[in-house]
Amino acid sequence: MSELDLRELHDPSVPVPESLQDNVAVTTLSGLYNYSRRNSLWPLTFGLACCAIEMIATATSRYDLARFGMEVFRASPRQADLLIISGTVTKKMVVPIVRIYNQMAEPRYVLAMGACASGGGPFKEGYNVVSGIDKYLPVDVYVPGCPPTPQALIHGLIMLQKKMDGQRLFQWNTADLQLDRGEELFVRERYSEALKSFDRALTIDPNFAQAWARRGDTLVILRRYREAIDSYNGALAINPYDEPALLNLALLLGRLGQYKTAVINYDRLLELNPEVPEAWQNRAIRLAQLKRYKLALTNINQALRYDDRVATAWVARGIILRALRKPKGSRS
Ligand code: SF4
Repeated sequence: MSELDLRELHDPSVPVPESLQDNVAVTTLSGLYNYSRRNSLWPLTFGLACCAIEMIATATSRYDLARFGMEVFRASPRQADLLIISGTVTKKMVVPIVRIYNQMAEPRYVLAMGACASGGGPFKEGYNVVSGIDKYLPVDVYVPGCPPTPQALIHGLIMLQKKMDGQRLFQWNTADLQLDRGEELFVRERYSEALKSFDRALTIDPNFAQAWARRGDTLVILRRYREAIDSYNGALAINPYDEPALLNLALLLGRLGQYKTAVINYDRLLELNPEVPEAWQNRAIRLAQLKRYKLALTNINQALRYDDRVATAWVARGIILRALRKPKGSRS
């Protein structure tokens, strides 16, 4: 085992006499905390497909994950803080994966290993395959390859360690706390205060897609529609797969009479997930408003195929059929 190198821990802005440098390190509490955490990550014993074999190989003596303090693959998510998504993510497996992630203790990290976990890989757009786990979990590091070699996985883990080095002991969760507080105020219908909380979360972390999206929802209720559109666009620029943000943005654009832009956003959403009857129904209504009745009829039929118990969809279908039957010149 190699000797402890205190230079990794030492804060270079504080001078220490050369004779003491092997034995003394001056650092911050966050530095010490991160140093301990980054060298004792415990991955979960969890594999999905062929990439998992490479992950297993990484733990063998040839590659020796123990050098990084990561060899303790835990059997319970409650004892693990790193989830390596190694393999193809099917729609059936998404639910248990998210459940496992939710059972892990904070702070927790996700590494998407290989082409399948990162974006669907060779099975992308298959009827049963998810195009990347980042639609459902916040991924910290992506490792490319099909499959990535153990060396590539180790490189990804070193990148994760570097990311952890940049975190602060007392701040890493503050944006989350502000978001939670905002959510709570939102539920209690204290919208102006909720908006302030979401703003605070975004001051701490401007790349917090969820805070942008919830800010958008709050601004809609406060009737500040233009700002809400900007907020939703902010969320989607960070996470283009945020389905609720896409749906809410499309709904808002439709309400504001921007039918074409609304239809484009419904298209984006339905491309990600075609099983949203509400999106099909609203897309049909906007198409009808654009006088594209035939396409609107196809869309409303699609909505009813997914859920035929929605009365408003049947009403919309009736209106579209009536418009289709009218002689061309008299349609309004
Ligand atoms: S990325 Fe390649 S090796 Fe990894 S699970 Fe997908 S198909 Fe298998």
